[in-house]
This record gives sequence, C-alpha cells and structure tokens, in this order.
Amino acid sequence: MQALVYHGPGRKAWEEVPDPEITDEGDVIVRVDATTICGTDLHILGGDVPEVRPGRILGHEAVGTVVEAGDGVHRLSPGDRVLVSCISACGACRFCREGRYGQCLEGGGWVLGHAIDGTQAQYVRVPYADTSTYLIPDGAADEDILMLADILPTGYEVGVLAGGVRPGDVVTIVGAGPVGLSAIACARLFSPSHVIAIDVSDARLAAAGKFGADVTINDSREDPAGIIRDLTGRLGSDVVIEAAGTAATFELAVRLARPGGRIANIGVHGKPATLHLEEQWARDITITTGLVDASSTPTLMRLVTSGQLDAGRFVTHRFSMDDFEKAYDVFGDAASGALKVVVTREEDED
Ligand SMILES: [Zn+2]
Ligand SMILES: [Zn+2]
Repeated sequence: MQALVYHGPGRKAWEEVPDPEITDEGDVIVRVDATTICGTDLHILGGDVPEVRPGRILGHEAVGTVVEAGDGVHRLSPGDRVLVSCISACGACRFCREGRYGQCLEGGGWVLGHAIDGTQAQYVRVPYADTSTYLIPDGAADEDILMLADILPTGYEVGVLAGGVRPGDVVTIVGAGPVGLSAIACARLFSPSHVIAIDVSDARLAAAGKFGADVTINDSREDPAGIIRDLTGRLGSDVVIEAAGTAATFELAVRLARPGGRIANIGVHGKPATLHLEEQWARDITITTGLVDASSTPTLMRLVTSGQLDAGRFVTHRFSMDDFEKAYDVFGDAASGALKVVVTREEDED
C-alpha cells in the first residue's frame, strides 16, 4: 500500500510500504476512506515530538471501512463504516474504566501516528478496535464525521468541559485555529453571554466570527485585557480557553480570567511557560490541562448527525491521497486560509 511516512525532522514522503496486518486478536484493519492532517503532525515534522521515530506512518484521524477483524473483535465486521478516533482505548485498565482513555495504561491513548503506524495511509491497523472506533450512522457524511476524530472532542472536552462553561458565562478563546474554532462552536452549546476570540490573524478571526464568536480581538494591534475589562465590568472572563500553545498565549489566558475564573489549557506546548503566582495566588483561579479522552465522541456524533453542530464548515480544502504532500503544503501555509484539509481515497481503488 501507499502511506505518508515520517523520515525525521522536516522529511516525509508518500511512498510504498508493506500492508498492515492483524497482530493482536483485538485489532481490525481499516481501509481509510478519508483522513486529515493535524497541527500535531506539523509539530512532529518540526522535531517537537522526538519519540516519533523515522519510518512511522503519520496521522491519527480517519473515517474508513473495516476490511478484516481479529478473532477477539466482537462488535465490528468487515464492511462496517467506522470513525477511527485519535485516542485508542483498551477499555479495561484503571484509567479506561474512569473514561480517561487518553491516559490508557495498556497501549491505548494517543498511539496512532505516534507510537504505532497511523491513518495517513490506504490501510491502518487499529488496536482494541471495539473500544477505539465508532460505527457511523447511515447517511452521515465522511467529512463531517472525520471532524470527530480529534478537533471536536478536543475543543469540547479539554476546553469547554474542563473550563466548566455555564450559561451566561463570558468565554474567551485564545487562538482561533481548528481546535480553537471547535471550542467556540462547542461553547455556544451552553448559551454563554459572550464568546470572545483572540488571534493575530484576521483571517482566523473572520472564521471565529462565523463559528460563533461575537467579539474578535487581533492582539497584534488591540489590547484584549482592556476590551474584556470593559465588557465585564472590570472583572475579566469567566472562562478562558488557551488553544494556541505558546508561553505568551498561556500567560495572556491566565491574565484574562476573572477572580475565581477558570483557565483551560488545550495548547500543545513545546516550551516552558511562566505561571505568575506572585500575581495570581490570591485570585482563586483554576487551571486545567489535558489530553483529549474522546469520551464525548458519541455525544458529539449525535450533535453532528442531528444538525446541532455543523462539522462540515471546518473543511476548507480537499485532496486525493496521491496529492498528500500537496495537502501538507497547503495545511502548513498560514496564508492558505486552510482550517482542515480532507484527503480521500482514490475513487477507482478498492
Ligand atoms: Zn490531532
Ligand atoms: Zn486502557
């Protein structure tokens, strides 16, 4: 088969590799019908995730069709359409029993395209298939469901739920990339009084407006702290969601929260950030961090298939698999306006 293979920092290729095989009775082999590229893949290519070894097939998001199931798989059969989540789960360890699948102790968690070969390929082996995939309802579009593999549960769980968004809250999202936009859309489900988006890109802020932000702030030329103070009677934001992953954006997020406020960090940080306890210790704030568990995937799938959450609007570009490297170029180019790029199987293949 063909797959997108990581060859060390800055190097990758769409090339011929051996077909995946079932190695454990809980595995399935999925033919990938649609996959996408994540900002995390760019971090890997940038050398920020050194545990990913050269030779690894990248990708942790897919929609596909089961073509083979191990003897221990009980809920899936060849021909089933499934969502392959970025988080795999053994379903039985201490953390899986608590629904904390991201922390799975038995070879689950974020493994695809990280510790094992991933989804940017014609076929992928998915471990613990019964508890790591989700059957797709008839009639649901591949593209919409694909957004449930990572960005929607990440924005919802690590941003909105961890931040404890409640009706009437002022919710500020720092960083309006795909995950920040997903946090905006999911925050809207809770009827906040205001959703404020902060970014340095006007194009991303325009997208934030379409996804439900009613105040947008370009902090390369505007002062977010002043604007939010004016909007909140000098208090600050009830919830601040950090979805950019730099020291500056984390420190801004902490400053923007009101006393007693909640700061939910989603950002993937490659470098240290400073927590100014000398300013913050008396302000009763709560800071949360986390990796997505994808425990909300069934809930989000109902919201998407019932039309309560518009997943399709994340998709800005489409490619076929033999244009995979071009898909990376477009996704990695800040000027392209790309949010999510969908890469699909060739029509004439089987
Ligand atoms: Zn991802
Ligand atoms: Zn587990």
